Amino acid sequence: MKIVMPQDQVFWSLKYPLAPACRENITTDVAIIGGGMAGLAAAQAFRKHGKKVVLLEQNYCGAGATGKSSGFITPNAELSFTDFSKRYNPEKAHQIWDFITSGVTDIRNNIQQANFHCDYVPQDTLMVANNYSALKKLEIEYHNLAKFGYQTNFYNQATVQQYLGSKSYLGGVSYEQTFSINGYLYCQALKQQLQKFGVTIFEETMVTKLSDHVLTTPHAQITADYIVVCTDRFMPELNLLNQAVYHAQTFLMISEPLTANQAQTIFPKEKLLVWDSDLVYSYFRLTSDQRLLLGGSSLLKTYATNPEHDSKFMYKKLTNYLATKFPGLNIQFKQMWPGLIGLSKDIAPLAGRDQNRPFLYYITASAGLPIAAALGRYSAENLLTNNTDLDDYFSPYRPCLINGPLQSLLGTKLSFALSNMLCR
Ligand SMILES: Cc1cc2nc3c(=O)[nH]c(=O)nc-3n(C[C@H](O)[C@H](O)[C@H](O)COP(=O)(O)OP(=O)(O)OC[C@H]3O[C@@H](n4cnc5c(N)ncnc54)[C@H](O)[C@@H]3O)c2cc1C
Repeated sequence: MKIVMPQDQVFWSLKYPLAPACRENITTDVAIIGGGMAGLAAAQAFRKHGKKVVLLEQNYCGAGATGKSSGFITPNAELSFTDFSKRYNPEKAHQIWDFITSGVTDIRNNIQQANFHCDYVPQDTLMVANNYSALKKLEIEYHNLAKFGYQTNFYNQATVQQYLGSKSYLGGVSYEQTFSINGYLYCQALKQQLQKFGVTIFEETMVTKLSDHVLTTPHAQITADYIVVCTDRFMPELNLLNQAVYHAQTFLMISEPLTANQAQTIFPKEKLLVWDSDLVYSYFRLTSDQRLLLGGSSLLKTYATNPEHDSKFMYKKLTNYLATKFPGLNIQFKQMWPGLIGLSKDIAPLAGRDQNRPFLYYITASAGLPIAAALGRYSAENLLTNNTDLDDYFSPYRPCLINGPLQSLLGTKLSFALSNMLCR
């Protein structure tokens, strides 16, 4: 049977007018490169400290991973509380988790205080298990979260079935006080708010060179006391952290609006943000206009060098996933797009000052919207008030198993694939 593919483009098309491109030389206190979640949060934080801020975005705010994302705002993006506990110790994991959760709070506060129109839907997150070993891990996650007083519940197979109309999941753990957004609309709303508060934002302005305190763009130069580079997976394109940053690919599809019956079959009780806990996981949620957003990847596609468009393989994989979990729903998908997420070798973010140029700060490989927001705020605290509480966890120079000559021998893709698997 011939497959009719969804349209190959991001669903939420450009609706907001672009800010102008930079055409004259400027001197400022702070220059920020990148208008995604991290860059906009950094701009906001520096402005709150009274600094003159210029933000440069090569495309439009939200054009990167943030605006392509599924918009789950929950602390458990790529790494769970238990993952952090294993790496450090439970107390340190607690500190990191609180930091990530502060990103959830920052995003919510922005939306509520300025009434952002960004499809904000409060709903809990449910991480579900497809097999018994995943279930065991979720039980441990539940106990670790509960021990530190985080609001959570453990759902056995029967309880999961009350929340998801599927017999396939063996159990789940909940993360509460979470919500979803449309990442593109959030970025554009925050852009407009920052402009009102005096931040200068340039879109269609790519930084092509960074030397000392000077940034070069196609038509002008910007000179800044502090520079914060928030370019996520594009970091190596600026010749920064070349060996430390790569990316992972994930795909997202959006359906036609579901009928009340279809929506009720998937979520019999209430809307939830659902991730499964497989190594390469799938995720889904409903938008406020009842469209199903369904995402995921495959080991074969995760480390692709470039985004893969019109992937029949991924379309089949994701629709099969849905048909297996929720048989007989016959949901029609309208659009499907690939997205690349900046990734470090141990999957935790990289953030900190350049080792030779202390005025230069990097935020990359956040692998999650809340942590990107929290790191944006932290960059201002670090550079302006010398807050170094979290520097050790996120240092861009932290050691990793595969590096230097071994990485050159194996190549970037294999080095990252092996490192990511070894650290799980
Ligand atoms: C399909 C998909 C689904 C996802 N779902 C979720 C989810 O549900 N929840 C979650 O927490 N995370 C999710 N993520 C991950 C999350 O989107 C990212 O981790 C996060 O958006 C990173 O934010 P950022 O600001 O660091 O990067 P980006 O949003 O990528 O921003 C970087 C910006 O820098 C700009 N830029 C790059 N180079 C230059 C240059 N030289 N000059 C000027 N500008 C430049 C880019 O155009 C871009 O706008 C998802 C990602 C994808 C792709």
